[in-house]
Amino acid sequence: MPEISVPVLIVGAGPSGLTSALALARYGIDVLLVEKHAGTAHTPRAHIVNQRTVEIMRHLGIEDRLLAAATPQDMMRNSLWVTSLAGQEVARLESWGAGPDRATEYRAASPSPMVNCPQTVFEPMLLDAVTEAGCDVRFEHVFESFSEDELGVVSTVRDRRTGETLTVRSQYLIGADGARSQILGQAGLTVTGPSGLADAYNVWFRADLSRYLAHRPGILTWNVAPGPQSNGRLGTLICHQPFTEFVMVLFNEPGADGPASAGEDELVHRVHEFIGDDTVEVEILGRAAWSVNAQVADAYSAGRVFCMGDAVHRHPPTNGLGLNMSVADAYNLAWKLALVLNGQAPPTLLDSYSTERQPVGAVGVRRAITSRHELADVRAALGLTPGQSRQDGQEALDLLYAAGPEGEQRRAAVRRAIDRTNHQLNAHGTELGYLYEHGAVASDTATDAGAPDRDDDDRELYYRPTTRPGARLPHARLGQGTSEISTLDLVDGPRFLLITGIGGEQWLAAAKAAAEATGVEIDTHVIGTPGGTADLYGEWAARREVAEDGCVLVRPDRHIAWRAHRFGPTAADDLTDALRQVIGGPTAQGVNS
Ligand SMILES: Cc1cc2nc3c(=O)[nH]c(=O)nc-3n(C[C@H](O)[C@H](O)[C@H](O)COP(=O)(O)OP(=O)(O)OC[C@H]3O[C@@H](n4cnc5c(N)ncnc54)[C@H](O)[C@@H]3O)c2cc1C
Repeated sequence: MPEISVPVLIVGAGPSGLTSALALARYGIDVLLVEKHAGTAHTPRAHIVNQRTVEIMRHLGIEDRLLAAATPQDMMRNSLWVTSLAGQEVARLESWGAGPDRATEYRAASPSPMVNCPQTVFEPMLLDAVTEAGCDVRFEHVFESFSEDELGVVSTVRDRRTGETLTVRSQYLIGADGARSQILGQAGLTVTGPSGLADAYNVWFRADLSRYLAHRPGILTWNVAPGPQSNGRLGTLICHQPFTEFVMVLFNEPGADGPASAGEDELVHRVHEFIGDDTVEVEILGRAAWSVNAQVADAYSAGRVFCMGDAVHRHPPTNGLGLNMSVADAYNLAWKLALVLNGQAPPTLLDSYSTERQPVGAVGVRRAITSRHELADVRAALGLTPGQSRQDGQEALDLLYAAGPEGEQRRAAVRRAIDRTNHQLNAHGTELGYLYEHGAVASDTATDAGAPDRDDDDRELYYRPTTRPGARLPHARLGQGTSEISTLDLVDGPRFLLITGIGGEQWLAAAKAAAEATGVEIDTHVIGTPGGTADLYGEWAARREVAEDGCVLVRPDRHIAWRAHRFGPTAADDLTDALRQVIGGPTAQGVNS
């Protein structure tokens, strides 16, 4: 039986497996990526790519390709509720940070915009980068099983074309094998939460709908046609390419004959119902059934096995978190594996993958389910109820335009319901603001730093930059010569970064001492010195939350590892201790785990 030896075996060439492969390749780690299908996703799935994911692609060197392939943020602006595309528009909400009230916050928060990029485009783009980076990618190779001992993992993989079985010896195994993950169960990991909450069906089609959408470009349109159909039967329209390629998501009534059994004519008829115009030429490109789950794994890793993406969190597409959380899982683990495989950190660092990412997954699943209910509330606020006659439904909609108290109340109720969907459609805090409370972070010594936490903020809606350990490094625009870069661009490869300011230059010697003591590489940057890196608009000063001579220690994934409010006589020891706490090595206080 042929045998391959590789540091990391990755199973699954979806967003999480491909991102893992690319990040590890960028960090100089060899991987083998196996995928049971002959290529990447051939049916459309996720499409909302949030700022964090675009940033991750920027760090991995392919942001330009993604932006070139994707629909830009300004074309994502309108979410619509219509009786049909040709019919009555009942409500509109500016979305995905593209409306004037949110655009400034989104722009201030990141060097990267949010975009819309279907998985069928996103995955091949990642795959190209992965193969260019020299990764060994094998399609039509099915992972079958693994066993583990203290030296590593031995997996069997079957080549579907030849039937030959390979033995793969690796030090670590990544289960990026999707919602039906075999690896999760084989590793003894379990998911909690209900499955099969609803059956859904994607109809992928081509049609020129410019006439109905070009004046109100956006990604999502919900059908609220009056009539006896249950919530959402006429579907949700997702724009994949403006304005020619779409997916219509249909939700089945439980027990009813679903669209799975529908012929092509029936599907075209359903699309025409949504458009409200049966003269539009519609070409069906594909179809796929899926179901709504609300599940998260209690732990993401066991021993040398790390599961990620849909293997560990499964939820509806509301908030567009599926692909984004999967990419972030991969990015969280990759630098840790690189440090451990390079002998710079003990394997205990890897425990932080689960303690950091599992709570993010649990919150994401909860948010996606709540958003689903909030969408249903819009129909209720409109006065649309399942089973009601078309006439009753139309009267309910007409009330929206009636003078007098009843009309006023209806309008106010609908606006309140629409506003609540901001928690799905402009949830900047959910997208960028998650913070790792427990994991590879050192306790905060800068307790007197920065503004106090504000209780009046909605942390799902609004992102608040912070240098609290565990948070993502705040973006600030910096100048280097004639170039403008982001604080996020100061991080290089699997190295830590220490940022200080004028008066904090002695941190550079402290960083050198800490690097020598721990074996962990630390780059350093002093912001504000003449001819060096300039805080162009004072954004770093406003966001750093430490004094100018303090420091912020940043991990390779651009999350804060530690910060110190000021430089002091114990700076080198404090930094060394903090770094050891982060990577899981012994500190002056004892051994961390
Ligand atoms: C029909 C559908 C529609 C969706 N719509 C949305 C949406 O609108 N918005 C959203 O946010 N999310 C959506 N999702 C979810 C989103 O696509 C996922 O969150 C995302 O793909 C997860 O990425 P992943 O890499 O974890 O897993 P996947 O993309 O599922 O990739 C897993 C890969 O592992 C491979 N694999 C599995 N087992 C083996 C094995 N034994 N050996 C080798 N390879 C194996 C699979 O073939 C697959 O390619 C949808 C999913 C589906 C299925």
